[in-house]
Amino acid sequence: MSAPPLEMRAGERASLVLRGATMLDPVAGIDGRHDILVRDGTIAELTGPGEADASGIEEVDAEGLHAFPAFFDPHVHLRTPGQEHKEDIETGARSAAAGGYCGILAMANTDPPVSVPADVEALRADARSAASIRVGFLATVTRAIEGEELTEMASLRDAGAAGFSDDGLPIRSARVLRRALQYQRLCGGTIALHEEDPELSGAGVMHEGPVSAALGLDGIPSISESTMIARDAAIAGYEDGRIHVQHLSAAESVKAVRAAKAAGVQISCEASPHHLCLSDEAVRSLDPHRFKMNPPLRSEADRQALIEGLIDGTIDCIATDHAPHAAEEKEVPFEQAAMGVTGLETAFAALHTHLVLPGAIDLGLLIERMSAGATPFEIERPSLAPGSEANIALCDLSAKWTVGEEGYESRSSNSWCDGEELTGKVLMTLGGGQVAYRLRSFSMGVAA
Ligand SMILES: [Zn+2]
Ligand SMILES: [Zn+2]
Repeated sequence: MSAPPLEMRAGERASLVLRGATMLDPVAGIDGRHDILVRDGTIAELTGPGEADASGIEEVDAEGLHAFPAFFDPHVHLRTPGQEHKEDIETGARSAAAGGYCGILAMANTDPPVSVPADVEALRADARSAASIRVGFLATVTRAIEGEELTEMASLRDAGAAGFSDDGLPIRSARVLRRALQYQRLCGGTIALHEEDPELSGAGVMHEGPVSAALGLDGIPSISESTMIARDAAIAGYEDGRIHVQHLSAAESVKAVRAAKAAGVQISCEASPHHLCLSDEAVRSLDPHRFKMNPPLRSEADRQALIEGLIDGTIDCIATDHAPHAAEEKEVPFEQAAMGVTGLETAFAALHTHLVLPGAIDLGLLIERMSAGATPFEIERPSLAPGSEANIALCDLSAKWTVGEEGYESRSSNSWCDGEELTGKVLMTLGGGQVAYRLRSFSMGVAA
């Protein structure tokens, strides 16, 4: 199967030198200080610091800064069509570029959901005029996410669907998922799964445990997620299908994915920054803007299991599940508030602050997993190797900043780290061979 199409706005191909950057790309085996010469949107050459010929092109002083492969997020909600007051392709892509991303995949649980080929084609056309980085679009597995009838998966693939997902909801019926995996054999397209047993989740609004008991709130047990993962891994194994498990949150889920991988199932999975950085203790504040999402923040033991899964490779990639919401949906009591938080602009800084600086994981591991979300969808991952398209995140690892202080590129402000001081900042992003983002205060060198 060929790689699904990703779309972006055509613009000026970047030609510049990042002078003296500390490069890190564990996959390409690049680790050290170099000048990065970008010509016409391609990484033309890496030289020793101060050695690249910058005549006629822009020179960026990257002394003391880090250059990473730009990130790829396979799980983003762009809210278009239907809820453009929360986000759209232009603001979502801008938000991603500000977070160091060069590519994102948009979920299909829009209003209406993306269930017919014409919708995929329309979104791709919009991205070609509005997206500052590459955007791909998933289509739903079932018509209108009703869980009953499959969409025309083959036609959706022909129209350019980057994969399939009913995210927002689980695929309740094992029979329906099995049929979808049988169609996948004919048309390709990874099926991304929001794993949750609605019977077990019930009316839960947070993780079921001592904190939910203390707060008197209905809980969502961790087995609501893990039992569905086990079921779906068994179905995928039986049908030799390929599934990607979204937003892993619980220790039992890590175990279930680990077991499925050991059994040879074609399964990949992601974890979100908020699940890797926070536990349900945060919910004691009853702040729905920052701490209400589905799956919910789990226990500290669950968080540690996710970190372990990231380290041992059970968790393939990091995905934000960026879920913009309007203020009025969040400015209500915790029980009634909408589920979801934004995350694109803060993912790298938050994980650097919460996991790398305290020594829980290496910087190299973080960098590797932040771009790895392309692979499960058969998309080439960003690389700093010479000859690659320029997809570069230039970061200041020592810069401290307060989240939201200068607003957001996203149209929504329900960031889970709103108001928090983080260490590490993206200063510039090259995506698809173009300059996709520059921090306003980041001054450029003098062009020759
Ligand atoms: Zn979900
Ligand atoms: Zn989602």
